[in-house]
Amino acid sequence: MKYRLRKSCFLGVVLFAFSLRLVRGEDAVGREIEPWQPGMLDIHQISSGRGNAGLYIFPDGTSMLVDAGELPRKTPRQTPDRPDGTRPAGEWVARYLLHALGHDPHPSLDYALITHFHDDHMGGISGSQHKSRTGDYQLTGMTWVGDNFQIKTMLDRGWPDYAYPKPIADAATRNYRGFVRWQSANNGMKAERFLPGRNDQIVLKKYPAKYPNFEVRNVGANGEIWTGVGRETRQHFPGLSGVPPADWPTENMCSIAFRVSYGKFDYFCGGDLPGLPPEGFPVWHDVETPVAQAVGPVEAAILNHHGYLDSQNEFFVGTLRPRVWIISTWDSGHPTARVWQRLRSERVYAGPRDVFATDLHPATRNVVMGIEKLTSDHGHIVLRVAPGGGEYRVVIVDDTSESHRVTKSFGPFGSR
Ligand SMILES: [Zn+2]
Repeated sequence: MKYRLRKSCFLGVVLFAFSLRLVRGEDAVGREIEPWQPGMLDIHQISSGRGNAGLYIFPDGTSMLVDAGELPRKTPRQTPDRPDGTRPAGEWVARYLLHALGHDPHPSLDYALITHFHDDHMGGISGSQHKSRTGDYQLTGMTWVGDNFQIKTMLDRGWPDYAYPKPIADAATRNYRGFVRWQSANNGMKAERFLPGRNDQIVLKKYPAKYPNFEVRNVGANGEIWTGVGRETRQHFPGLSGVPPADWPTENMCSIAFRVSYGKFDYFCGGDLPGLPPEGFPVWHDVETPVAQAVGPVEAAILNHHGYLDSQNEFFVGTLRPRVWIISTWDSGHPTARVWQRLRSERVYAGPRDVFATDLHPATRNVVMGIEKLTSDHGHIVLRVAPGGGEYRVVIVDDTSESHRVTKSFGPFGSR
């Protein structure tokens, strides 16, 4: 009798747990990822093998694409194209968006943002790109996405003059500017310069009143960095007149950084910001330190500069101290050994952490000791924050095909 009772209790618990799982639409390994639902915050780090691309779906359905990179050439340092080399990265990203925004009968992007003007973040030019059928620009990375998707507001660090610290006139940026001009004149796109310190430039476009505890805080761009107080900013770089041109801020140093908050949940993204200046360079080439002072602890963060050797300084890692790190990887230097050590070190900060990479290069496996402790080393990474922001999961999705099949699932993790 006792045994029977226990058995039926057990069965009841199993059934209850199973029904909960169905009700909550949780992602099961082997099945297609569940669609986004109102109230959820989804952050997709898309694996393409050609650059960075992150899709954000805010709790009211507002969408934002952060970067759509397309390195125009392949070298042995790079991982294979994902899913494969039959389409350019911009097209693969656009197809991914179509699926991820499938809940919307007329999918579009409320915002697109380019963290900085490098090929692996906006799309490069090699001469073999297709031309747009409508506008006078070539299709690569962000311009491919924008040719196929309506982008309502385009944000970057340079609009309208693209002149800091000096005129940005390389072929890829000229092409992107041609795209911005054409889309603004003919397709109703609004272009804006990203404004550090503000929390009202990137906002919920559909039902803002429903989610008062959601915020996107613009942290920095072009060396102008939020202080952490109100909307105050200060310029971290010195005036250029007193600086020899060889020491001027680099494109990476000018990267856009922002924080997404939902209740207790915080997420940081800072493009390719450096935190460890090369030997002989001025200390203000460290941009991570003032950014970390403003941002403080977060639940999750994407590594600056793909974990390359000039990034993730000790202060930055110890101040943000996330539970979940995401690395956008496609190069054998992503991440480098010392960066990996700092991420893992319990002397830098205490407590457990998991690190997820979009695609680890085989050479990195041999060079970086302990890299096998990555929680996941390939696949699209989907950070799924539950309604209210109290907990979140990490779901890994197959990047070798367009199956959208869940390969691994982690969490829930509680927001602090
Ligand atoms: Zn980059």
